Amino acid sequence: MKTRAAVLHEYKKPLVIEELELEGPKEKEVLVQYKAAGLCHTDLSILHGTLTMPPLPCIPGHEGAGVVKEVGPGVTKVKPGDHVLAMWVPVCGRCVYCLKDQPYLCAEKDKARGGSMLDGTFRLKKGDRHIHSMMGVGTFSEYNVLSEQSILPIDKDLPFDLTSVVGCAVITGVGAVLNKAKVKPGSSVAVVGVGGIGLNVIQGAVLANATTIIAIDILDEKLELAKQFGATHTINALKQDPVEKALDITNRIGIDYSFEALGKTETAMTCFKMLRRGGNAVIVGVPGLDKTLTLPMYEFSLMEKSMLGSYYGSADSRSQLKVLLDLYKTGRLKLDQLVTKRYPFEQINEGFKDLESGKNARGVVVY
Ligand SMILES: [Zn+2]
Ligand SMILES: [Zn+2]
Repeated sequence: MKTRAAVLHEYKKPLVIEELELEGPKEKEVLVQYKAAGLCHTDLSILHGTLTMPPLPCIPGHEGAGVVKEVGPGVTKVKPGDHVLAMWVPVCGRCVYCLKDQPYLCAEKDKARGGSMLDGTFRLKKGDRHIHSMMGVGTFSEYNVLSEQSILPIDKDLPFDLTSVVGCAVITGVGAVLNKAKVKPGSSVAVVGVGGIGLNVIQGAVLANATTIIAIDILDEKLELAKQFGATHTINALKQDPVEKALDITNRIGIDYSFEALGKTETAMTCFKMLRRGGNAVIVGVPGLDKTLTLPMYEFSLMEKSMLGSYYGSADSRSQLKVLLDLYKTGRLKLDQLVTKRYPFEQINEGFKDLESGKNARGVVVY
């Protein structure tokens, strides 16, 4: 069959919407018609060439929700007509990571990173050239074929646009707080960068009953939005020194848990510096692969400060995505306020321009 998709042929160039040839689903694969796809900063890193996986040409996009159109042999999870959410780590349940209770690090994700199906072959083609599909889900395509492991069935009453962002922004931010930092009630939390991920760190901190939640950014509109998500304090880092201000807010003690949501070395240092003795900083943002971090080593042992990393919310997406959707349904997770703009597929490049300029909490493409 044919599908329209937004293809990246060259770094730092706009996506090109074109018609591709899509082969049907093989064993344990599913044909999905996407209805919505979120625009994430990680997609932008691919567009810029800061991240070079999958290889070009590729279809970026890893937040997506849609409808199952066809299933290959052996598929038991879904049937045509079911609504699904894309999961960008195709959890296998058998590898060393899955068996050590870290399914978000599943070995299959290395295959998905290469942009192929799990068997190493491709379903999307332009002429005789294979098109790679980001994390095995490539959501910037009207149709795509995914491994059964990469989808989660969802209730039919959930809106596609809001659900799509749960698959990356929400689980990554909320999960970093609940699963990695394991923030305790009454804690102080700071987050640097309050875009799609940072706002969800704030939502996670609210769910964990943190009592001091500090949002740090350089855009006042984002800080205002952060308050709506539950931030108790805001710091504009262009106007105030975030470390000094965070110390002031905590009576010069420092922060219990800080979160870096931008993938920048300077902000990672800021997160470490503002910690109290025994505090934990968590890196959630995705940096360029060449970035390194220099930290005062004595603070690890003599002050027991720690720096942790969190990937995909350190979550078992198979169960936690459903928990997050239930929290939304019961009014304890904000999604309506998170998706601030919807773009027709044809305007996807405009959506990325807006993302770059910090216009949206989360922009979503609708098909
Ligand atoms: Zn696994
Ligand atoms: Zn993402």
